[in-house]
Amino acid sequence: MARSCPGGPPSSVEAGLSEDLGGGRVRCLACPRRCVLPPGGRGFCGTKVNVGGRLCELNYSKVSSVAMDPIEKKPLFHFMPGSWAYSVGTVGCNLACRHCQNWEISQPGVPPERFPWLRDLTPEEAVEQAVELGASSVAYTYNEPTVVSMEWVVDTARLAREAGLKNVSVTNGYWSPEAVDRLAPLLDAANVDVKAFSDEFYGKVAAAPSMRPVLDTVVSLVDRGVHVELTYLVIPGLNDGEEEIRAFSRWVADEVGDDTPVHFSRFHPEFKMRGVPPTPAETLEMAHEVARSEGLNFVYLGNVPGDPRESTYCPSCGTPLIRRFGFDVLDCRLSGGRCPSCGREIPIVGPCRSRTGFYDLM
Ligand code: SF4
Repeated sequence: MARSCPGGPPSSVEAGLSEDLGGGRVRCLACPRRCVLPPGGRGFCGTKVNVGGRLCELNYSKVSSVAMDPIEKKPLFHFMPGSWAYSVGTVGCNLACRHCQNWEISQPGVPPERFPWLRDLTPEEAVEQAVELGASSVAYTYNEPTVVSMEWVVDTARLAREAGLKNVSVTNGYWSPEAVDRLAPLLDAANVDVKAFSDEFYGKVAAAPSMRPVLDTVVSLVDRGVHVELTYLVIPGLNDGEEEIRAFSRWVADEVGDDTPVHFSRFHPEFKMRGVPPTPAETLEMAHEVARSEGLNFVYLGNVPGDPRESTYCPSCGTPLIRRFGFDVLDCRLSGGRCPSCGREIPIVGPCRSRTGFYDLM
């Protein structure tokens, strides 16, 4: 379990991924920014501080959001369909997306001390509650807890495993290789948000110089046996060009696998991009068609409740296999992990159950 940080603020613990640079300076190794913190300094995300030459993570056991969510809300469509994910968020992020949907809790550089309303929740309490409520998994979600609250996530994930629960990360994938090494053995599934397929977008919209670390995280997680699904939020005029979506789809097919579930989500104006309109239906249709034509077998549309492309179809014969409406699973028609009509193997992890509804625990 994490050790408290000597001389640090209340609720701070020692960060596991750090490097002593001498002279009181310390480098954080949790994400590709590799922030160098002078004595008293704070990293880009705002959640890691240098206390006496030691890297400390703030707000251990302080959470901003807790809910029982359908696993489909993550979104994960091929991982225990119809199950519940005990979903937890903290505060802070290592990207600075101008369109962030959870910007109240997910902006970097905002000191976590500015959130006096955070709720106390130890790893033991989180796992106990998840079991009591009948969750199948614990999801680290809403902001970027997997990176900015890594110590709490690691401790919780270990206890969750012992209690028979799965661990799920909903993430921007902007991780260092060291973070992948530390987290992958504890994770069962991840939804990685690939925000665009250009460095220019990552620079302008997310304040990251390159998308490469995100792509590397995706491939590394898959290589280590973590079930991965990808989300691509389609934003008019910024990442919705046919060629960009084609290049993304080709990369998925070639480097990640053509059975990887890909979710193209509809953009809603948010935060600093309220002037950008919602994604037109035709653009989402184009993205779906392009991805299918590039050989991706399981392509979904998100934030369009009722669209038939929320459901799973057999890529070989077209038989509907899992019917969904929004986050609800209406029915599952798999037979021993295969299409009941043609027998094609369908890559779904765990059992599939029908289920409706979700609720908030805060
Ligand atoms: S996790 Fe935060 S402090 Fe660490 S390298 Fe990333 S942005 Fe910097």
